[in-house]
Amino acid sequence: MSGAGSPSPSPQTVAAWGRLSASTHAILRPSLRADVPAALSRGANRCAVRGLGRSYGDVALNPEGALLDMTGLDRFMAFDPATGELEVEAGVSLGEILAAACRPNDDGSGWFLPVTPGTGYVTVGGAIANDVHGKNHHRAGSFGRYVLGLTVARSNGRIIHCGPDREPGLFSATVGGLGLTGVILAARLQLRRVAGLAVESEHLAFNSLDEFFNLTNGSEADWEYTVGWVDALATGKAAGRGIFSRARHAPNQRAAPPPHLPRLSIPATPPFSLVNRASVRLFNAFYWRSARSARRTEHYARTLYPLDGIGNWNRLYGPRGFFQFQCVVPKNDARAVLGELLGRIAASGEGSMLTVIKTFNDMPSPGLLSFPMPGTTLAVDFANRGEGTRALLADLERLTVEARGRIYPAKDAVMSAETFNAGYGHALAEFRRHMDPGLTSAFARRVGLESAS
Ligand SMILES: Cc1cc2nc3c(=O)[nH]c(=O)nc-3n(C[C@H](O)[C@H](O)[C@H](O)COP(=O)(O)OP(=O)(O)OC[C@H]3O[C@@H](n4cnc5c(N)ncnc54)[C@H](O)[C@@H]3O)c2cc1C
Repeated sequence: MSGAGSPSPSPQTVAAWGRLSASTHAILRPSLRADVPAALSRGANRCAVRGLGRSYGDVALNPEGALLDMTGLDRFMAFDPATGELEVEAGVSLGEILAAACRPNDDGSGWFLPVTPGTGYVTVGGAIANDVHGKNHHRAGSFGRYVLGLTVARSNGRIIHCGPDREPGLFSATVGGLGLTGVILAARLQLRRVAGLAVESEHLAFNSLDEFFNLTNGSEADWEYTVGWVDALATGKAAGRGIFSRARHAPNQRAAPPPHLPRLSIPATPPFSLVNRASVRLFNAFYWRSARSARRTEHYARTLYPLDGIGNWNRLYGPRGFFQFQCVVPKNDARAVLGELLGRIAASGEGSMLTVIKTFNDMPSPGLLSFPMPGTTLAVDFANRGEGTRALLADLERLTVEARGRIYPAKDAVMSAETFNAGYGHALAEFRRHMDPGLTSAFARRVGLESAS
């Protein structure tokens, strides 16, 4: 999506990261904070808000309606190198923060993002609205814990400053609020000091989910970043095998700012998905054998953003796009439920290359609708093959609800209103009180998220 750069709506075709469908939107792209209230009212009916469009499903879509593209608000407002407090406009990306504010001191130490998802191409507004998590959730919790304050524009023209101690109701609703409580104009964030910007990492093979849980439980005290990759096509004795990766900042080891652009890019969408059963089987077998390594020191981008080196990698799934499914299931039953979920996936033959498991800790988030909860999360991607893929997703959704888990809106394109209510019902009455009647999204309509007023 290219920016119009003008306050007048410009019709453009927009798709989400999963590229399941593309639809026309009236794009408004304000470049000044002061222009946002007017842009909101120009949305005529109701507007959706969008950052860099890295959500896979429909949280940042509003087909045939207005879409407020926030990437024009990309200014750094203040940074205190003594305290690590940073104020930026909401359209600044996490990669830009790393490039500008997280530079190494002479001894290799420096300020770093306290939490980052698996890509640097997300805006601060998007990171807050989905209350994103990273590979260090067991140590740091989610992004919202490091938000000191927000400036939010409401569709009635009001500009509200909120934070944990100021207008805390609106603040809690806006962290993880899916762009439905107001437009985040700017945020004050607390960066974290690390002893070295580079990381030391290692990758260990595991042969079963039990081995994964032993590795992750045994690593969490000493390793800041942990994650498991699972070979989702493996069956029989090989079921549950994978690679466990762990990393931590390496004292006194410097790392340069990350590159602004990916090294490689997929130039066009192939006429069919290059991600199919055969290619996934080949990739998984290769990765399973090759990914182990002795401990090494590397650039943090290699550990934290493995996919960012390839631009437009989502095009590999062809013109029909792909689904991501990400759920979290509570701690006590996690081992059994994950086994069941992975068993269904392997039996379906719908291969997934990017099957990731990660434990979440019990550090509370300020966000009312925040996705993480104590337990284990599983993320899987499937090329869109139509009914068969949707039937598998429905099966995984049902198992998640039965296990009292929940599905991550940032990744979702299909969950029902019942499933959403089962996962987030505990907070919905309070959340609705803070919803902005001028804001909407295709996701909100699909799961019945309407404001109380
Ligand atoms: C390769 C890859 C890896 C990922 N890894 C992870 C991961 O490890 N952990 C994780 O949690 N997520 C992960 N994600 C998902 C991603 O972090 C989230 O979807 C994130 O919210 C995307 O931010 P965005 O700027 O692209 O926002 P968009 O996708 O454009 O929008 C996301 C939400 O934010 C709202 N929004 C955007 N800007 C504003 C604003 N200024 N004010 C109010 N609302 C706003 C939108 O309405 C929407 O609800 C990954 C995505 C990709 C593509």
